[in-house]
Amino acid sequence: MPRRILITGASVAGNTAAWWLGRHGFDVTVVERAPSFREGGQNIDVRGVGREVLRRMGLEQEALDRGTGEQGTAWVDGNGAVAARFVNADLGGADGPTAEMEILRGDLARLLYEPARERAAFRFGDEVERIENGEEHATVTFASGRTERYELVIVAEGVGSATRDLVFPGENDPRWMDLTIAYFTIPRVAGDDAMWRWYNATEGRSLSLRPDNKGTTRAMLSIQQPPGEERNAGIDGQKAFLRERFRDAGWQAPRVLAGLETTDDFYFDALRQVRMRRWSSGRVVLTGDAAWCATPLAGIGTTMAITGAYVLAGEIQRMSDPAAALAAYERAMRPMVERAQGVPKIGPRMMNPHSRLGIRLLHGALRVAALPALRGVATRLFAREPEAPDLSSYPKRAA
Ligand SMILES: Cc1cc2nc3c(=O)[nH]c(=O)nc-3n(C[C@H](O)[C@H](O)[C@H](O)COP(=O)(O)OP(=O)(O)OC[C@H]3O[C@@H](n4cnc5c(N)ncnc54)[C@H](O)[C@@H]3O)c2cc1C
Repeated sequence: MPRRILITGASVAGNTAAWWLGRHGFDVTVVERAPSFREGGQNIDVRGVGREVLRRMGLEQEALDRGTGEQGTAWVDGNGAVAARFVNADLGGADGPTAEMEILRGDLARLLYEPARERAAFRFGDEVERIENGEEHATVTFASGRTERYELVIVAEGVGSATRDLVFPGENDPRWMDLTIAYFTIPRVAGDDAMWRWYNATEGRSLSLRPDNKGTTRAMLSIQQPPGEERNAGIDGQKAFLRERFRDAGWQAPRVLAGLETTDDFYFDALRQVRMRRWSSGRVVLTGDAAWCATPLAGIGTTMAITGAYVLAGEIQRMSDPAAALAAYERAMRPMVERAQGVPKIGPRMMNPHSRLGIRLLHGALRVAALPALRGVATRLFAREPEAPDLSSYPKRAA
């Protein structure tokens, strides 16, 4: 009999784990809190080892085909003039700030979900309410009232995971990155091109516009400051906060703030890393952002979610002792996670200067990094793939 596994969260990590475990012959149920599959989310990228996992799933080409078409990144001044530019075509196939595989989060999650559900049962609009974490089983009571027994529970609920906090109370020691970001979709206008255009205003504010493959434009507003009350202000309060802070920001702020009023796709987050000393306890294991969110500043969160879920499924498949499998998974993923979380807190400050002089210095440094002679340095800076696990012992293709 296949062993029963519960996965909570149907996004990047949860769907990747479901895809592999379903194909390894386990009896997999995925429970997602949202009432239906979540489509939203903005531009994310997959690099290096994460692409290797997608290749092994036969999904790499489709992920490229469904990409946003972003061709590079340009820092602009208040008049839209380019201060520094990194164009992927010039980087000799290497990833720069824009990776070769740029895709909307919802498109990637769906690309994983459609084949995952061929071999796993999905239940939406439900979540874990209580877990009895025993030696041989975890007994789970859901918000819907049902109670089920599983041999393993995989928590893939993202940075704010409630089940993590239930099973590992007080163990997450978050590291706040002092950067608040809002992402939302606005109408596309003539002049929006295939570049990620990034504008810095004083007081640690930045505004960027990215292309997508839906005929719209993806806007991002960020503010470099410690998290404040706006974090818990609800969508209306968060929008009011952004209106107030970006009113005099310059460049395309008026257009972006107008788009903020009508957008139906708003995501607001005060960035924090998830720091856990362990990722498993008994029959419960964490993966993806729920285990180790490194924030978008690390530039490798989605790659780690895909890779971690794949490594976890591989270890579960090849070991009969769950404790040994979970320990091997942690050993394989820790070095990559620790390197990714090592982003210095000064990073957001440098990329979001507070003064005009700071912005001039940033643009100057980026201009130098973009020089053809220094492109190797630039690609190493942006295309980090720290301490990726060795995938050679895991299945190249599922049965
Ligand atoms: C709607 C959405 C939009 C996003 N937009 C961006 C973006 O624009 N840019 C960016 O860099 N990153 C974004 N992210 C985060 C990005 O997807 C992750 O950093 C990364 O891909 C790791 O994925 P993950 O599967 O570990 O976590 P996530 O992608 O965060 O997925 C977690 C999933 O678990 C579900 N969930 C949460 N709590 C429970 C619960 N108690 N029970 C069951 N299910 C639960 C969530 O609804 C979600 O589907 C977004 C995530 C979401 C969910």
